[in-house]
This record gives sequence, C-alpha cells and structure tokens, in this order.
Amino acid sequence: MEGFTSVVPTGIEAETAGTEAQGKIFCANCIHCKLVPSPDQAEGGYRLRVRCDAGKWLKKSGEEKIYKYFTVARRSIESCSSYEDMGDAAEFMKDLRKALPTADEIYPT
Ligand code: SF4
Repeated sequence: MEGFTSVVPTGIEAETAGTEAQGKIFCANCIHCKLVPSPDQAEGGYRLRVRCDAGKWLKKSGEEKIYKYFTVARRSIESCSSYEDMGDAAEFMKDLRKALPTADEIYPT
C-alpha cells in the first residue's frame, strides 16, 4: 500500500519553516512520525497506525510501540535528538486536529 509516509492530513501542506509550539515537540510534526496501515484480520480492511521510524517509541520490553492514528496529536515530548520538524508546529497541529478521525476507524482495502 502506498502513500502512508507521514501524518500530514490529506490536502494539507506543511512546508513552512517553524519551531516547536509552547516548548513542546509534537511527534506528529516530525518527519520520523509515519502513518502505516494495519490490516484488520477480524473485520477486513485496515486501520491506521503511527510509528516513529527513528526507533524512539519503545515499550519497557524494548519492543517498538505503535499508536492509533486518531491519538497522534497527543504524542508530545520535551525534547528529542532526532526531531525534524515539517513546518510550523502550531499551524500544523491545528490543521491536523481538524482532520484527524475521532475514533479508530476501519478503512476498506
Ligand atoms: S524522532 Fe523523536 S520527535 Fe520524531 S517522531 Fe520520533 S520520538 Fe517523536
């Protein structure tokens, strides 16, 4: 499946320069935060997940942690050595929150 390379909402460009909002880093505004499809075996179709391709999201066991797409706006941290912003965080997050689904939706394949 192609086209799942970032969490930029459809139709929204995030190419303006900018920095973190209110001293926080939003993972959703980082180039390493990737949107990936996750097949739903029970119901068919797929659900959307996000992962950090810099390998920063880990469980205590060391296993990679994957989050549901609709929660991506909640992922914020104080600092990250791998953070690479994709534009003005405040504007990006505002647009993203408007575009995000409100639940863990299933999409047809
Ligand atoms: S590299 Fe850091 S800021 Fe970027 S998505 Fe991963 S944890 Fe978040």
